This record gives sequence, C-alpha cells and structure tokens, in this order.
Amino acid sequence: SATYNFCAGPAMLPTPVMAKAQAEFINWQDNGCSVMELSHRSKVFMQLAAKAEADLRSLMNIPANYKVLFMHGGGRGQFSAVPHNLLPEGGKADYVISGSWSKAAAKEAANYGEINTVEVVTKTDESQTVLAPADWALSKDAAYVHYCPNETVDGIEIFDIPETGDIPLVADMSSTIMSREIDVSRFGLIYAGAQKNIGPSGLTIVIVREDLLGNARLTTPSVLNYQLAASNDSMYNTPPTFAWYLAGLVFEWLTELGGVKAIEQVNKEKAALLYDYIDSNNFYVNNIDSQYRSLMNVPFWLTDESLNDAFLAEAEQAGLLALKGHRSVGGMRASIYNAMPLAGVQALVDFMTDFADRNKL
Ligand code: PLP
Repeated sequence: SATYNFCAGPAMLPTPVMAKAQAEFINWQDNGCSVMELSHRSKVFMQLAAKAEADLRSLMNIPANYKVLFMHGGGRGQFSAVPHNLLPEGGKADYVISGSWSKAAAKEAANYGEINTVEVVTKTDESQTVLAPADWALSKDAAYVHYCPNETVDGIEIFDIPETGDIPLVADMSSTIMSREIDVSRFGLIYAGAQKNIGPSGLTIVIVREDLLGNARLTTPSVLNYQLAASNDSMYNTPPTFAWYLAGLVFEWLTELGGVKAIEQVNKEKAALLYDYIDSNNFYVNNIDSQYRSLMNVPFWLTDESLNDAFLAEAEQAGLLALKGHRSVGGMRASIYNAMPLAGVQALVDFMTDFADRNKL
C-alpha cells in the first residue's frame, strides 16, 4: 500500500514531479548533464528560471509592480533580511505573535531595532482562539507590520488579512503559500521557505513591492539585500539551481491541476475530513477555535497520552510517516500540504478510526 509523509518540512513533493525529475536527472533535456551541473548563467538555465518565475507570477496573480526573488537562507534568513531591508536605524516595527514562528521572527528582528510585539492568541487548557485582525493593537508609526498567517507548529491559521493602511504588511507564508488564493496587492512583502508547498529546502521565495527596494542598511550582507537580488535577477550569487528547477516543476504541476483555486478546494476537503473526524469522538482532540484552524498543519492529541508511542509506531507500520507533534506542543501533527492527496488523509482517518476502536476503554 502507499506511503504518505506527513512531515511539516521538508515535506512530500507531488509524485508526478518526483517521477519527472527522476526521468531527467542525469541528462536534462538532452543537454548531456544534470540540470544541477549547468551554469546558472547558461541560456538554458536562464530560460528555466524565467519560466518558473512567470508560472509563479501567474499562479499567485502577482502584480507587475512586485519583484519575485529566488534567494537562499530559508525562513530564518528572512527573519534577518526583513529588518535589514525595511527597518531604518532607530526605527520601530510591529510583530504580531500568533505562535512559535512569529515569536522567533520577532526575536531575530529585535537585534536590529525596536520591536513592538502584539500578542493575539488566548490559550487555556481547553481552548485556543485568536483575536480578529481588525482588533489588533497596531502602532501608527511602525516601519512595517509582520505576521505569520499560518503557524506551522501551533496549527493556527489567520485567514483575514489585516488592514494596515500605508504601513507595509509583511507575511511569513512559509507553510501557507499557494495553498489558497490570496490578494498579493494587500502585502508589501511575502516570503516563504520552499520546503513545504514549493520544492526542496535551500530556496526561499520573496515577493516584494518595488517601492520597498533600495532601503537596505549599509551593514546588510549583500546576499540578503533585496535590491541587489532584484537588479541581478536573483543571480547576484549562485542561486540554489536544482531547487529552483524543482520548484519550476511544482509550479507546472499546480498549473496543470487548475492552479491555486483548484488546490484550495482539495485542501479544504482534506482539512475538513480530518478535523470532522477528530471532532466526532473523544479519543482525539484539537482545541483550536474552528475559524483559526490551519488548512496545512493539523495538530491533534490523544486523550490518553500513554498511547502516543503505540499510535506512532503503528502508524508508521501502516505507511503513515512523521506524525509526531512538534516537541514544544506534544501530541501529533499531520501536515497536509499541497502534495498530500485526499487519499493520504483518508488513509490517516481510517488508521485513526481503527486505532481508536482497538484501544477504547
Ligand atoms: N517560518 C515558518 C512559518 C516555518 O514553518 C519555518 C520552518 O518550518 C520557518 C519560518 C523557518 O524556516 P527555515 O527552516 O527555512 O529557516
């Protein structure tokens, strides 16, 4: 039977993408070598790079006044790059805290200036809920507002986009990018590590409105400088070429499926299947307010936590991999990114049902 990988990242890639990459691994498009052995400045690679960018632009409907950068350094690299490029010396930024990744971003940014943290989650033993974006206590004079629409560890997703007027809105979309339609024009900057919905780790996508370029600090490392990246078509230094290639295959796959709108429907179906099952019994629990439950990362707990090890071992035997929750929240977590088919979530629910039947008091 099939194996399904529920890892939060690096995550499963679409099966057709892996098959295509395997078929052309050694000899890419009759160039006599692997795509990873080609110069990033060769005509063929530049064409591949431009096609990947164009496909991403059309998938996300990115307006023409935004640059798309293919960078190194992952999500955490952007935790530093954002203040380096957008926070003037002596300036202040708002960081909305909705879970562990937004907290980590705020901690890194605090190395570069005054950070106003805005806590928006209320947690008790029984429940977790989030303050609606319209009610966030944001500053009037921040250089930007940073938030994380999908908290990968906590399983909290904020669907409404905060209204910040003239203050640029910055979003860490590492674990939600391309999972549902968003209006890019509402954001000053969006960034995402690739290793969930885009491709392999090592690549980071930055989508930045052009008027925000050119403000990096004198001390900003050149590889983190958005203006340099933009004016060199993301080839100021050697980009992660193989990851860029695979991301391009993922964009083609998603385009063929019908784009972000189509995958959003599947993602909603997958999430509903799993949450509805969890809510239907007392054996498993997810205590997050249903309006803020993540479509991509579903944490859940066994009411009897002494069964955790047996659950994980048996799940693995059934081909359901990497379900252990993050160490900071415990329990289980099923990450169900774009590449996870509905059949994978159905297999998980079937296993959970069977496990509960066999272990009920
Ligand atoms: N932001 C979010 C929302 C994440 O989920 C992660 C990693 O899982 C990161 C940032 C950190 O990314 P990286 O490991 O690429 O630095």
